[in-house]
Amino acid sequence: MKGLVSVIGAGTAGLIAARELSLRGIETSVHDQKEIPGRPASASGIFSIGGINNLGINYRKSLTNTLYGARFHAGKEAMEVRSKEPQAYVLDREELNSICIDEAEDAGAAINLGRRVAGNELGKMSEGGIVIGADGAASAVASYFKMGSIDEFILTYKAEYRTRIDDAGMVDLFFDGNYAPGFFGWLCPNSDSVMEVGIGVSMRNGNAKAYFDKFAGSERVRKVLGNAEFLRGGASMIPIRLRKRIFDEERNVVLVGDAAGQVKPSTGGGIVFGGNAAKMAADAVANRIFRGGSLEQYAKSYKKKYMVDTKLHGLARSIYTRDGILGMEGMLKIMKTLRMEKFLAEYGDMDMPSVVPKRFLLSVFGKA
Ligand SMILES: Cc1cc2nc3c(=O)[nH]c(=O)nc-3n(C[C@H](O)[C@H](O)[C@H](O)COP(=O)(O)OP(=O)(O)OC[C@H]3O[C@@H](n4cnc5c(N)ncnc54)[C@H](O)[C@@H]3O)c2cc1C
Repeated sequence: MKGLVSVIGAGTAGLIAARELSLRGIETSVHDQKEIPGRPASASGIFSIGGINNLGINYRKSLTNTLYGARFHAGKEAMEVRSKEPQAYVLDREELNSICIDEAEDAGAAINLGRRVAGNELGKMSEGGIVIGADGAASAVASYFKMGSIDEFILTYKAEYRTRIDDAGMVDLFFDGNYAPGFFGWLCPNSDSVMEVGIGVSMRNGNAKAYFDKFAGSERVRKVLGNAEFLRGGASMIPIRLRKRIFDEERNVVLVGDAAGQVKPSTGGGIVFGGNAAKMAADAVANRIFRGGSLEQYAKSYKKKYMVDTKLHGLARSIYTRDGILGMEGMLKIMKTLRMEKFLAEYGDMDMPSVVPKRFLLSVFGKA
């Protein structure tokens, strides 16, 4: 049995869903308003190695740097967590998106680019088949099918500079309400000669570019950039709360990725959560098409895998967005006093903080 699935949005989440459905022999079309989806990349490309490997993307061609850890800065405190093993990859987001398009197409999906899908067309698509809304944070699919809102966003601005980089294996994170109220600022070596500078601010604070200018003009950033050559910059936003509803059984709709708010609230990373959600959505849609199963299976699987960790990420954000000794500065002080740098380097997990105690216990009892 075949069923027509229309995926709206050719970002990573939509393309992974399309790839997975096509591999199961389900007729799938992907629609994106852009001629070249993913360009220009307004997001960063930092991924935990385990997280990106899990998505089944042959991403090697997009790899631009390997990270071994992070330095955290808050007030007068700084803490370095550096591992001997690679912890994360930096991938070129434009290249990654193009790889995902090829993989969806190779699996059999029809890719339609350069035209925005709206209103009545969505209604017709859902009458004749299933619609997957993978159309980003300001999802037209979610609005059309009245799937509720996303209550909290981070506004971002980031830019890339060509410069000399002494230690390309570490990312620097700055927690400071003056530069990045509600989120943080970052310096990430995208390669050994391109440094990314970025900030996020909670939506209440408005103009992200103004905060970026302040951050980029600060002494600590100027010291790193020196006479760096500006390459490109741009604004975007990150949804950091789940949308009220992520499926509609009667109208044959599911939302994945940023459209559903499937993002880590602490870091804004959305590719791993959204990509895995896309795989779960594909399972539920296939089950619906072949066996008459319920789309609710998708929401249940997502909740089971990610709800606890989403809450822990939210808790981390509620601590680091407080300035002073009750916030990140105090937290860094405590962690340094307890000499937790080594522990975090060995057992930390960028995606799933809930696995940290388990990893630690397994290693203590010799079963890791
Ligand atoms: C500054 C910044 C840094 C980030 N850093 C990281 C990071 O380091 N690691 C990480 O994992 N995540 C990061 N993220 C988050 C990550 O980029 C997103 O979670 C991810 O891109 C979401 O993918 P998606 O496929 O859900 O949506 P998108 O990538 O937003 O794709 C949606 C697509 O839908 C299309 N579209 C929208 N409406 C329509 C329509 N009506 N018709 C047709 N097409 C439509 C758009 O053109 C777009 O191509 C960052 C985000 C930002 C803003």
